Parts: sequence; C-alpha cells; structure tokens
Amino acid sequence: MQWLPERTEPCAWRARWVVPVTGDPIAQGVVTVVNGCIVQMGTSSDAPMNDLGDVVLMPGLVNAHTHLEFSDLTQPLGQPGQVFPHWIRDVIAWRRGRNIDPVASIELGLVESLRSGVAALGEIATGSAWTAAMAPTCDVTVFYEAICLQPARIAEVLARVDELLDHTAPGAKWRPGLSPHAPYTVHPRLLTALIERAQRRQLPVAMHLAESREELELLAQGTGPFRELLDGMGIGWPHDELSAFRQPFDYLQVLSTAPRSLVIHGNYLTAAETAWLGQQRERMAVVYCPRTHAYFRHEPYPLAALLNAGATVALGTDGRGSNPDLNLLAELRYVTKTFPKISPRQIVELGTLGGARALGIAGRLGSLEVGKLARCVILPCSASDPYETILQG
Ligand SMILES: [Zn+2]
Repeated sequence: MQWLPERTEPCAWRARWVVPVTGDPIAQGVVTVVNGCIVQMGTSSDAPMNDLGDVVLMPGLVNAHTHLEFSDLTQPLGQPGQVFPHWIRDVIAWRRGRNIDPVASIELGLVESLRSGVAALGEIATGSAWTAAMAPTCDVTVFYEAICLQPARIAEVLARVDELLDHTAPGAKWRPGLSPHAPYTVHPRLLTALIERAQRRQLPVAMHLAESREELELLAQGTGPFRELLDGMGIGWPHDELSAFRQPFDYLQVLSTAPRSLVIHGNYLTAAETAWLGQQRERMAVVYCPRTHAYFRHEPYPLAALLNAGATVALGTDGRGSNPDLNLLAELRYVTKTFPKISPRQIVELGTLGGARALGIAGRLGSLEVGKLARCVILPCSASDPYETILQG
C-alpha cells in the first residue's frame, strides 16, 4: 500500500480502478487534484495525466478508535478469551511497570498508522502525552480520557481536563475531544460535567460502552468480576446511588446530548438500543473493533442489526493492548470473512466514510468526492474486482 503523492501543481491520476466509496467503482478512473483537493472525478481531465497503472485508488482509511500509548507492545496483554475485567487489571499492572516514554509509543503508533494507509484517527489519550508540540501526519482527534468513580475527586479530575483543554486548544495540529472512559470507571456526575464541557466547547465525546457481559452485570446488579476488581482496588461501586444508570441505554441518552458522540464497542447493545442508535445517526456513531472483539471471544457482534437500523458504524483497531497491530485494512478483511452477507461496498464504507462521519470530518475525508482532500491510498490490483483487491488482498 502506498500514498498518492502530493504535488503542488495541478495533476490528474488515472488508475485501473477508482473506488470513491460514495458511488460505484470507476474503471480507468481519473481523479484530478489541485492544491491537495479533489476538483474533478471521472474518466478524463484537462490537467497533466499520471497513469498509476494496474492499481486501485481509494480514500485513506479512518481508524475511529485506538489507544496509541500501547503501540510499543509486540503482542496483546493478557490471554485471548480472558474475562474482560481481568484484562483491565493486567492493563493497570502494565501501566505501573512500563518503562517507555508514552510520547515515543504514540509516535510509533502514528508511523504504523501512516504505513497502514490511515488518513484519520480517533485516539484516546490517558495522561498528558499529547501536547501542542505533537505534529501527526494524519488527521487526529484526541479524546482526553477522564476516570473517576469517587464523588469527592470529581472536581480535581475536571480541573485537570480543563487544564488540558486550555493548554492545547490553540495551535495544535490535532483537535481535542473528551472521553468519559466507561460506566465502570466514570461516576454519572463526572459524565454529565464532561458532556456540559463538550457542549460549551463543541467537542466530540467517545465512551466505551456495552463492551462486556461483566459491565452489564455490574450496572444491573452491582455484582460480578468488575465489582470484585473495584472492591479490590478500594474503590467499590455506588450501586444504590446509581439507580438511574442500570443499563447502557441510560448512558446513551446522556451521550446523545453531546454535539457528537462515539459509542466505543457496543458489543452487547440490545435490539432497542440498536434501533434507537439508528435514529441518532447524524450525531452518534458506534465503533466496532473487530479483532479486539475476537480477542476477548465476545458473543457475535450486532453489525447487521446496527446497519439495518441505519446506525452510523465505524471501525477501529483499538490499541495494541488487545490487537496485534494497528492495520485497519486487516480489520476490513476480518469483517469480510466474518460477515459474508454484508456487501463489500458497505464494508469499505465502514473503514472510510463511516469513520469520517463518526469523527465529524466527512466534509474533507472518508470518500473521493469533489471538494474533499486527496488523501488517497494505492493498492496493486490482485483481482479483477476492485473490492476483492481491497478486502482479500
Ligand atoms: Zn478502547
């Protein structure tokens, strides 16, 4: 996979197949680019022609969910099929024992993403490694993660979030968002305060939700492996206090009041939640992380139900803590194998335009259309069908 070269002068690029995502593939397609923007699509151009040959030209991929702090890992943490709260325990232990600078790890992840044809990323930032000095080569939304279940500490966590937002907003080459981590780590009062900030500053929000059966058990009954983990850490679980938060739907409703929100995973969304997310497609998206989902051996993912409901669905690699690499194309190929009934065109859309819509950047990335950025990738044709080249390699 290669990137379409950037040129200062107007030029046209011809490929055996141009895959615009928003329309049918164009045989011997031509994309005309001026100043990095697409100005014409079709089969001809007045600009000087460059023939790319026997290749597929398509938009750069969008990885809507990752944690680049894990990018130095050579294999996922824990064991495949591990109970999810036990993996969380492993992550906490790894963070305490790590000896690589988080900035170096993030930079490794950015390089790997660029090599994998990723044009845009939704990144969850734990800590303060993302500073105005970071200059990623792709479009990055950095969701500042906030964690706190203890009411007495919420003000302190919010002060830290405000400091990060004030510090990085101007001049940064990426844009900030907010991430209330997950129901089992975020007190609803913290969640509400973060959503208020998102409304005030017009920021997107990303939250891990309906990720595991253990999370559903904790919310509904206040018991199970998550309860044991929280009790073991001396945090506990304020079950009685959270009587209005017994299921993911209660969190979805709060998230829907943010300017834009991403539901990360949604592995265990109910039919009613799925249908409701279909109605919220303009401002809410669900991010499916296929190989991470497989790593934990979750129940089958409700991908067809989400798509049938009309929900906006994006794909993510998640971090290297639960996935062997950050290659989004490998996620598309995994989805192709796992969901043979979903059309190739729809799968390609999940990894491009779906992610761009989720992150609110579909005006400039996610498809090849006049007015969008020419952040395109080139794949050598391995089959006569362009989707087969992309999805089967
Ligand atoms: Zn995650």
